[in-house]
Amino acid sequence: MGILVTGGAGFIGSHTCIELLNDGNEIIVVDNFSNSNPESLNRVCRITGKSIKIYHLDLLDLESLEEVFLVNQIEAVIHFAGLKAVGESVQDSLKYYKNNIATTIIICELMQKYSVKNLVFSSSATVYGLPDTVPISEGFPLKAINPYGRTKLMIEEILQDLYISDNEWSITILRYFNPIGAHESGMIGEDPSGTPNNLMPYITKVAVGQLNVLNIFGNDYPTIDGTGVRDYIHVVDLAIGHVLALDKTLKSTGVKIYNLGTGKGYSVLEVVSAFESATGVKIPIKITNPRPGDAAICYADPKKAEKELNWKAKKGIIEMCEDSWRWQSRNPDGFKINEESENPRLIYSEDFLIPNN
Ligand code: NAD
Ligand code: UDP
Repeated sequence: MGILVTGGAGFIGSHTCIELLNDGNEIIVVDNFSNSNPESLNRVCRITGKSIKIYHLDLLDLESLEEVFLVNQIEAVIHFAGLKAVGESVQDSLKYYKNNIATTIIICELMQKYSVKNLVFSSSATVYGLPDTVPISEGFPLKAINPYGRTKLMIEEILQDLYISDNEWSITILRYFNPIGAHESGMIGEDPSGTPNNLMPYITKVAVGQLNVLNIFGNDYPTIDGTGVRDYIHVVDLAIGHVLALDKTLKSTGVKIYNLGTGKGYSVLEVVSAFESATGVKIPIKITNPRPGDAAICYADPKKAEKELNWKAKKGIIEMCEDSWRWQSRNPDGFKINEESENPRLIYSEDFLIPNN
């Protein structure tokens, strides 16, 4: 029996693949590589010494996806695949509703058809909108404030309804706070296309000399130093959370919801300062206008995950900065392969890479 990982080539998916493989799972990845590179999975195989079955296909392609269910014995699905850029979701909302919501419905339909009723879903702290107080616990009111957030909220509601209609399902919804960092090997990490929207990849691009200055979006928030506060969580801690969530999902039916965060907030200036002391690299900054729709402070109450999943984030902000920097400094162009220095083929997985033209 295998675990189907949608979006497994992406930032969080690739790190989770490592933890799943190290935990002895067989994994099958489906990804259209719209926001990732198969090289990430090649490196997952090199890091773990294990192989992955990879399907290059779009989750909207129901027929091809059905093949995956027909050919493989699937025990559970971890559904990472989705688009995640808030700004783009405002500009092109239909693309987000189609890609995030329709894909989830398709995968759930197939899961239902083939009686694979165990699902772990990637949600986000964005479903809390602009919270009135912190720390944020799972029972807080939900209010998405942009199309991306609404896709996550709608999917959460769809999954709740799915369980009501068929209570053989076991669904775990994970609300991530701000994942940063990278695998300690420096071989995989976040590889955004174009100019990064998020803080840490922007900082590392400045540090590596590809961007000149970090624009800090506002310094007049009611926070320790006026800059926005977020709950940054190491992506490996997050990945380990998925392995524990999967175990829990396989043990009982129902819908369970967990925040995955550290419970501690850092301001933008604190993150810059942590990065500088962790790496010795100075980050030039410029204060600019606030970004519309940004919350002042957002951090998790992670107690429920600690109690029920036995999960707690272990890595601190300095480790997050060191690991982000190790990845970026060793791979200034992300997963783009230098043909001369590295073999660009999927060395462990090439037999399984199914091109979808
Ligand atoms: P990512 O873009 O790195 O990974 C997503 C993967 O899904 C990519 O490999 C992409 O190619 C694939 N994909 C997208 N649409 C697809 C489709 N139609 N068919 C097949 N593959 C498709 O993003 P990530 O940071 O790893 O995020 C994973 C999930 O976690 C997403 O659902 C995201 O919304 C959610 N999330 C991310 C963050 C964050 O800050 N990174 C925070 C909260 C929630
Ligand atoms: N931020 C910033 N400059 C950037 C990117 C982000 O000042 O180039 C700030 C942003 O206003 C927020 C924090 O950094 O206070 C984290 O932003 P990110 O986009 O990474 O996460 P999100 O706001 O989606 O939680």
